[in-house]
Amino acid sequence: MTQEVLKYICLCETIDPQKAGRRIYNGGMYRKGEDPMKKMMDALVKPTAGVGLELRQVPVPEPGPGEVLIRIRKTAICGTDVHIYNWDPWAAEHIRPPMVIGHEYVGEIAALGAGVTHFHIGQRVSGEGHITCGHCRNCHSGDIQWCRDTCSVGVDRDGAFAEYLCIPERNVIEIDDGLDEDVVSFFDAFGNATHTALMWKLVGEDVLITGAGPIGCIAAAICKYAGARRVIITDFNDYRLGLAKNLGADYTVNISRDDLGAVMKDAGLKEGFDVGLEMSGAGAAFKQMISVMRNGGKISLLGISNEPVELNMNDIIGKGLALQGIYGRKMDNWHQMSYMVQGGLDLHPIITHRFGYKDFQKGFDAMNSGRSGKIVLTWSE
Ligand code: NAD
Ligand code: ZN
Repeated sequence: MTQEVLKYICLCETIDPQKAGRRIYNGGMYRKGEDPMKKMMDALVKPTAGVGLELRQVPVPEPGPGEVLIRIRKTAICGTDVHIYNWDPWAAEHIRPPMVIGHEYVGEIAALGAGVTHFHIGQRVSGEGHITCGHCRNCHSGDIQWCRDTCSVGVDRDGAFAEYLCIPERNVIEIDDGLDEDVVSFFDAFGNATHTALMWKLVGEDVLITGAGPIGCIAAAICKYAGARRVIITDFNDYRLGLAKNLGADYTVNISRDDLGAVMKDAGLKEGFDVGLEMSGAGAAFKQMISVMRNGGKISLLGISNEPVELNMNDIIGKGLALQGIYGRKMDNWHQMSYMVQGGLDLHPIITHRFGYKDFQKGFDAMNSGRSGKIVLTWSE
């Protein structure tokens, strides 16, 4: 009898059937060559209130009833992770160290908690990062993005920058085999862009996107895929405007240099933009957007502002603009994302860097340099 089989038998003898779902390795759920007694994993931890992250060994989480353990294969760095890394005022207010951060990921199911029936071991998955209460009025109507009691993976509870992540079954998203894991690793952010862009009718419309961060660039690609006539994107970062161009934006406008009005004229806009997607969080960008919308235009607001923004309400009223705040993703956005990628939407140009997770520092340095799009960290061999 081999050592591996012996260990397996020992482990089985200790399992209380009532608690079987809380064990990480049981019933042959570990892979050949893996130590089933291993209970520690590598994770990127915010150790204390301050700048930086630490690669640490932390306990592997155990899936409780209704939970799923995911073996992480790839993660992507989000702007929120950079806020947490830099320990800015937002992070100081929201993050309680020590904790594992990260919420953009793809992986495979490693273990199932008691009562989980819909998924199987080895299945490729990602996950909705907002864990909602399930009981409020919006949860009941399926609008989980507006839940009054949301808990966010990697912000309010341990996250995905680790070898394993545990989340409730209802947050697990099945990922089709044909989808490239590099792209799926940032479906969470792609979901924000999808939610914001597909809020309005886009076929034949002229769209202004303010902010060419990764989400603005992805939104430009979605708008073109969804049939917009002109997509014009603003920023003051030429590197990022270059990425937006690669993703299909028709015109890029460097607001520190270019005249948006002249670009609109060149692009054939007569009455202003039909649709606006605010993706910078800058009050100045929002004001500029309001000034160039056509009467009856539609705006969705994703960018989160660091400070209150002063507006002339009459500009919004006089133009009859519709404003929609966007938070997180709708669950249906997950289906739309897979289907758009399968239908030909190519998001590879937004990936600018790939590192192994032990090189996470290089990834955060690149994010902080302003010369990056999405950065993918690999966790599997
Ligand atoms: P990012 O910070 O990487 O990109 C924002 C971009 O806006 C930057 O490139 C910046 O140079 C540009 N910018 C700043 N001022 C500008 C101005 N006046 N005009 C035009 N561009 C300007 O952010 P991201 O990761 O792409 O995310 C986009 C925004 O969405 C951020 O504000 C982020 O906090 C927010 N966000 C919101 C949600 C939500 O659920 N509501 C989810 C994720 C991200
Ligand atoms: Zn709720």
